Parts: sequence; C-alpha cells; structure tokens
Amino acid sequence: MRKAGVVLAMVLLVAGCGAGCRESSDVHRRTQYLMGTVVTITVAGVGGDDADRAMNAAFEEIRRLEGILTFFSESSDLGRINAAAGERPVGVSAETIEVLTEARRISDASGGAFDATIGPLVSLWGFEVKERFVPPKEEIERARMLVDWRKMAVDPERRTVRLDRKGMKVDLGGIAKGYAADRAAEVLRQHGVSRALVAVAGDIRAIGEKSPGVPWHVGIQHPRDPGTVLGSLRIADRSVSTSGDYERYFIEDDVRYHHILDPATGRSAAASRSATVLAPTTILSDALSTAAFVLGPEKGIALVRSVPGAEAVIVDREGRVHVTPGLAGKVEGLAS
Ligand code: AMP
Ligand code: MG
Repeated sequence: MRKAGVVLAMVLLVAGCGAGCRESSDVHRRTQYLMGTVVTITVAGVGGDDADRAMNAAFEEIRRLEGILTFFSESSDLGRINAAAGERPVGVSAETIEVLTEARRISDASGGAFDATIGPLVSLWGFEVKERFVPPKEEIERARMLVDWRKMAVDPERRTVRLDRKGMKVDLGGIAKGYAADRAAEVLRQHGVSRALVAVAGDIRAIGEKSPGVPWHVGIQHPRDPGTVLGSLRIADRSVSTSGDYERYFIEDDVRYHHILDPATGRSAAASRSATVLAPTTILSDALSTAAFVLGPEKGIALVRSVPGAEAVIVDREGRVHVTPGLAGKVEGLAS
C-alpha cells in the first residue's frame, strides 16, 4: 500500500495537475496496476472514444510484455532462460532479445554497475516479500559470484539466450518498465495519438507536448520527503526515469537496505539517494538511471554525459544535488 501511495503521488506530480487544478476536457487519464506497479497513461488532443481505444491498446501491450519479461513466472521468456541456466540456450521472443541487447550495452558502458544477471541477489534479498532481513555474508558472496553479464550469451540471429552457470538468473526490474513505456507510446502513436504521457511508475515517456507550446511537466520526487518535489522538468518527445532508495526498503541498525543492488558488493548501493535520467528513449533512461544510481554522482554523471542525448540529476548520499551541464538552470524549483 505504502508503495502505491508514493507512486500515485508521483504520477499526479508527473501529470502536472494536482489538487485544485482543472484540466481541459481533451486530457484523458487512466491508471492500471501492471508490472507490479501503477501505470498511468495521459492522452491529450483527441476525443474521449479515440483516447479510450488508444489507451486500452497501450495497456494491453504492457500486459503482453509483462507476460514475456516477468521474473515471477516459469513460462515467461525470463523464467525459461533462468530454468535452463548452465544447461542450454533458450529460444525467446524478439522483444527479449531487444531488451537484453540494450541491457548488455549499458552493462558494458557502466562497467557492470547495471547488470541484468542481478537475479540471484534480488532473490536473496527478497525485497518483494514482507519478511525482510540482512542475509548472511556467505550467502551474499555466493549469490554475488553468480552475477556477471559477460556470462550471458545473447544470440540475435538464432534468437536464443544462454546463461553460462547454473544458478544464474536474469532480472529485468531495472529496464523492463522503461521498455514497456516505449512500446506503449508506440501503440498510442499507431492509434493516431500525438500528445501523451506514459508513466510506468517512475519510467516516463512523453509523446509530443501537452498542448501547442506547452511541454509536459514532470516532477522529481524528493527522496526523503514523500509527496514533495525536489524540482521539475519540462519534457516533450523525451523520456525520464528515476531510481530511488525510497521505493522498496527496510532499515536495520540505521542502515537503509533497498532494492537497487551494487553488483560489486552484493548489497544495496550506497552512493546515491536518487538518480533521474533524461534520454531519447525510456529503455535507455531506465537502465541509465539504475546504473547512475549505483555509480553515484561522479561516475554516474560521467556515464550519462558519455551517452548522446542523455542528462541526469543525482541526489548523493548526503542529499547534495548534482546535474549534468546540459541541465544546469533547467530543473525548476531546485534550490541552487
Ligand atoms: P530501477 O527502479 O529501475 O532502478 O530498478 C530497480 C530494480 O532493478 C530492482 O528492483 C531489481 O529488480 C533490479 N536491479 C537491482 N539492482 C540492479 C543492478 N545493479 N542492475 C540492474 N538491475 C538491478
Ligand atoms: Mg531503471
């Protein structure tokens, strides 16, 4: 419940229309719970029936992708890849190849800070379950030794994926929501929509502007003050993703344990409180925000600067805000 509340608050901010705000009648918004989170689609500039048809098709596309990419099913592409780890290559859909190819590219670029083979550590820490505790050191070490994106063979021609070692597991929690936002946006476009915002929790894709000359307004959540914004960005035809340590976490002995793991230590990454990345696509902003979060302000900003069209806002472990030069002075409401 807590998580849904936070995400909903963010979505309202994202839509740029909070309590007391009245939107014009050609703005239509729908929310569904998909991919384990809140998905909100906002469509502007088309009539209600057309908007409904387009949004239904976009939600359907996200549901379809969830079926392919989920970690929590034995029959999904991911479930089958993981079950065959250390044994054989597995035939998968073109979508899975596309996501894993991008995942590998960001793993290479980030020196493994982003690693889609993080599955054994995700399962061990169990941020999805209620009973949360710090696992024994030896178990963390054992799981960490199974995390290595270079031991995942992706063959686009044969459309197969193979994990080298038994016990390895792919988890796409750090990239699949962004991919789904891109694909849903594509479906909206195919339905004639030219102004829309697709928000799969904190992974957001903007199509066009909200209205002529008025970009979409996206809030960056304050990492320690739920429901308030740290600053906001204006976007059109662009994507923005935020990774934060406030989404799924528990605190033990004054240490915050959360769902973004550093493959180098096997523990929650500790260099940042949040990382927000702007990029041309959401698959890219999603993977980069997770990578930048793990890397922290210096290396994270350097990584984002090396990617054409990408910008970042990183809140470090002390709460200081770092932005790429391209965003200097462009984050509204940000105390300097
Ligand atoms: P995000 O909120 O996009 O940063 O994604 C966080 C999710 O990605 C976690 O819940 C895990 O499923 C997965 N994840 C955690 N750490 C990593 C990592 N270092 N690289 C890739 N995926 C990760
Ligand atoms: Mg991500």
